[in-house]
Amino acid sequence: MMGANKKYSGYTSWQFFEPGKDYKPFRLARVLNRVPSTVIQLSKAEEERVAEIIEKNILISFHDHAEIFPEDPKDFIEYERVGRPFIGYEGLAKAGFDAFFDGLKNGIALARGHDPWSIDNVIWQIGMVQADLDHQDLVFIGRKVEDIEKAFKEGKIAMIIHIEGAPHMGEELEWLDVLYGLGVRCMGIAYSRGNEYGGGLADKIDKGLTDLGYELIDRMNKLGILIDIAHAGDKTSLEVIEYSRYPVAITHAGARALWPSRRMKPDEVIQALAERGGVFGVEAAPHTTITKNNPRHSIESIMEHFQYIEKLVGIDHVAFGPDTLFGDHVALHKVFRDHLSITRQEEDLPPYPRVEYVDGLENPAEFVNIIRWLVKHGYSDQEIAKVVGGNILNLLKRVWR
Ligand SMILES: [Zn+2]
Repeated sequence: MMGANKKYSGYTSWQFFEPGKDYKPFRLARVLNRVPSTVIQLSKAEEERVAEIIEKNILISFHDHAEIFPEDPKDFIEYERVGRPFIGYEGLAKAGFDAFFDGLKNGIALARGHDPWSIDNVIWQIGMVQADLDHQDLVFIGRKVEDIEKAFKEGKIAMIIHIEGAPHMGEELEWLDVLYGLGVRCMGIAYSRGNEYGGGLADKIDKGLTDLGYELIDRMNKLGILIDIAHAGDKTSLEVIEYSRYPVAITHAGARALWPSRRMKPDEVIQALAERGGVFGVEAAPHTTITKNNPRHSIESIMEHFQYIEKLVGIDHVAFGPDTLFGDHVALHKVFRDHLSITRQEEDLPPYPRVEYVDGLENPAEFVNIIRWLVKHGYSDQEIAKVVGGNILNLLKRVWR
């Protein structure tokens, strides 16, 4: 049964505490079936192929958020201020993946009113999520390739700690050693707005990597932290790809050739990434990977990005980083527009229809729908194995040491 038998015990986050006394409770969104999202329909033979693919291969999501958000968007800001995540274990058990990169709550974490990118806020998030994880057996922090293999064999899920941008460490880059020690295995350079290390995708002018940025990359290379340029500016991205001693990742984005948003990547960046052995994860957060053919965001628009990138750089360099969560992601974007630099990213975009959720890829439990789509559209088992995990695993074998 290998990859298919995820064992969910019924544990819910912080159940060992007394709500109201030990922590502030929130009414949370439903983890499963919150919205009527489409399941790709398959024949019996195709269903069997999907089950076999999950069973036999190591599956990895390059970017997701395991967290459950409050049911009422009015609670979002207070929930972030409290800084205590609730994890959707029940949904993760159904996702099909053996490991996922969890982009903690970077960019929106208002924990205790601090700068979301301060080092103490980042450490708070890493420690807080592990305090909950360590009270159950399904999900554990993955620190090496063997941990992912162990998750696959033992019916567990490895959470890879992924920080979407470098925290403010100034010149004290030894903080990177501390972050690595705490489990961080993937990190961005700048989160949308530029910082002391490089330019972000929301900057009007991307100044590129700074001197300190080059030092940051050296140290990440030496430690074995995978570098993610999903939120970096184009110039910074090209400089990182060229300078890094090891291949890098774009864990969650799409193709700008299909949709003219800053959040998407131009062909030049995607090709440079692949030429150096990097892997591109296709994104699914609401209103990101849309296309002119499929402007109403759904799994169809997402797969159009996948097919474009696959044609551009080949199947060995594509994966999926859906960037989903449990709860109302569209409302979350509305509440945290400025923190996520969404207004800036949407400047000059042509008009497009807004959706309430991304049909077919709405939360982490729907990762399996990607496999269903690929089976339905004639991809071979070998090709599917590569894009839903194999390519990421090969990259990690080169970068993590
Ligand atoms: Zn992101």
